[in-house]
Amino acid sequence: MFRTTQLRGETVNRILRLSDEVIGKIAAGEVVERPSAAVKELVENSLDAGASAVTVEIRGGGADYLRVTDNGSGIPSQDIRMAFERHATSKLVTAQQLASVATLGFRGEALASIAAVARVTCTTRTAGNETGIRAVNEGGQLLSVSEAACPEGTSFVVRDLFFNAPVRLKFLKKPGTEAGYVADVMMRMILSRPDVSFRLISDGKTVYHSAGDGKLESAVFAIYGSEMLRSMRKVEGNENGLVLKGYVGIGESGRSSRSNQSFFINGRYLRSPLLSSAVEEACRERVMIGKYPACVLHITMPYEQVDVNVHPNKLEVRFANEAGVSSAVENLVRDAIRDRDALERPVPMILTEEAAPKAPSVVTKDREAAPVAQVQRVFREEASPKAVLAETEAAQQPAEEKAPIPIVRSDAPQAETVARTVALREEPAAWQAAAPLAAEQEPMPFLKEEKKPMKIIGTAFNTYILIEYENQLLMVDQHAVHERLLFDEMMRRYDTQSAGQQLLFPLLVSVTRREQQVLEENRESLERIGFSVEPFGEAEVSVHSVPMVMGEPQTKAFLHEVLDQLAESRAYTAEKRRSAILQTACKHAVKGGEALSEDVLRDLVTRMVEQRVTPTCPHGRPLVVSLTRTELDKKFRRIQ
Ligand code: ADP
Ligand code: MG
Repeated sequence: MFRTTQLRGETVNRILRLSDEVIGKIAAGEVVERPSAAVKELVENSLDAGASAVTVEIRGGGADYLRVTDNGSGIPSQDIRMAFERHATSKLVTAQQLASVATLGFRGEALASIAAVARVTCTTRTAGNETGIRAVNEGGQLLSVSEAACPEGTSFVVRDLFFNAPVRLKFLKKPGTEAGYVADVMMRMILSRPDVSFRLISDGKTVYHSAGDGKLESAVFAIYGSEMLRSMRKVEGNENGLVLKGYVGIGESGRSSRSNQSFFINGRYLRSPLLSSAVEEACRERVMIGKYPACVLHITMPYEQVDVNVHPNKLEVRFANEAGVSSAVENLVRDAIRDRDALERPVPMILTEEAAPKAPSVVTKDREAAPVAQVQRVFREEASPKAVLAETEAAQQPAEEKAPIPIVRSDAPQAETVARTVALREEPAAWQAAAPLAAEQEPMPFLKEEKKPMKIIGTAFNTYILIEYENQLLMVDQHAVHERLLFDEMMRRYDTQSAGQQLLFPLLVSVTRREQQVLEENRESLERIGFSVEPFGEAEVSVHSVPMVMGEPQTKAFLHEVLDQLAESRAYTAEKRRSAILQTACKHAVKGGEALSEDVLRDLVTRMVEQRVTPTCPHGRPLVVSLTRTELDKKFRRIQ
């Protein structure tokens, strides 16, 4: 799926001047408006030159000093003058070729534009040449070209950006901010090309360093670290002629802006409101209100189905089949984040500060090979192999006796077996209820063998149900679970169009004109959850039945709220409308802050497990938080 490019070694084309026709076709834009733009152009050149390693170093946000060094094809000495000229490119010759551009740069204006406003030194050597060359260009004047001893590849050093363009200089932000823009550019580079090892150094510190092993996982790790990678869901599939691969961060990984959504189409980073909303729609119930899912998604599709040249800086895109692309992305992401049950991925609670470093390659290997339940274990072990072992021992022996023995274990299924044995050894006390996991019709291989006891310990603050499950202490938000169960129930009801509960006397609710109209438009949808409402005179409606799970007292408030929601969302799809109605309905069905009897608690937990509910409430809050025994043991200093 990742393009390995283009103009490597012997296939380097000679540099030619574009014809006037082509020049006319290419909108000459402002190429370098800030350091990050220069970095982007230079790195794209490196990629076009087939580099497998690119280092970017900046100082003072890049305006003082920036360097891009690659191990690509190098620039032949006879071409170096031409490279600095406007509209000189080795990548495009005819106007027809414009239509099928596979290389990143093709306008032939980046080097010329950068050199025009900075002091540039280019050191380069092509494969097979004994020596390289060094060219110095200041303010667009080629000052010197000389022989130089240098490694194969190309290094551009750009100093004093905008030294002769005071207005531009004035518009630059603080170095820290400019460095942030450069980091953004590099983040997208890293995520777009897992096959290339990138390094970003800012004021002497390494900001990013990607493995370049070709695995998207490693690239995501380089940007987001292990914790985020672990919590992200893998997306993989194809629909409507496109292939989608990548990761989506929901729940705790949701972010408060879209800046952590990265889309790549045929390897090229692009912004797309269409794709963002497809992902957001798929994750709607799985991120908290006001948060956006994070994502790294690669879309591969036929070149002729996308127009990437609609915007001069090549960041925006137009699709031939917008609806098809949008629904494919939405469906594939939704499939990817669907869970088998809420216990599968509780939100981990970490009590101890230290986080052990992890090797991304391990993650990759195990994630691909192991079924989901094991993966969690692998991660835990990976986080601290000693801890898992110590945890096992702590469970098997009296605590005071032993010190943990640091044996490094690398084999996941083994750890799984050990942990399971431990879990089964512990017998629940007689007074504690054990709710066995329900056997599914089509059990996943790892579920068949497992019937793990769950001890319900009680509740805290009339809000959280405490459960001992395997080697974890689970905390379940009773109201969130209740809400989720109701939501699911209503959803089923909606889809089977079952009737609501008939009211003995119709309830009159006064509504505005506007509300009346909205009601009329959505009558059918409301009826599908059991809400039947008739107009009653000018300013009222009469409610004849309400959804089963909802009592009469909530009716009025619900009606107003859902009408508000619907009025706001005229452009909503049928799916969004359904979801809005259902969410509002079940919110009104749930009562807060109340003490539940042991029976009710057990019933909630059992249903949660048996129905394998989505692990968040309809608004995206988590249902289950887990605290591992290891974390507790560490906190109590039983283990290090
Ligand atoms: P474009 O990338 O649009 O062709 P540029 O001004 O960015 O235009 O670069 C001009 C030419 O210089 C490129 O076509 C390429 O031949 C050469 N060049 C620039 N950077 C590199 C590099 N890092 N390695 C090899 N060749 C390069
Ligand atoms: Mg270029």
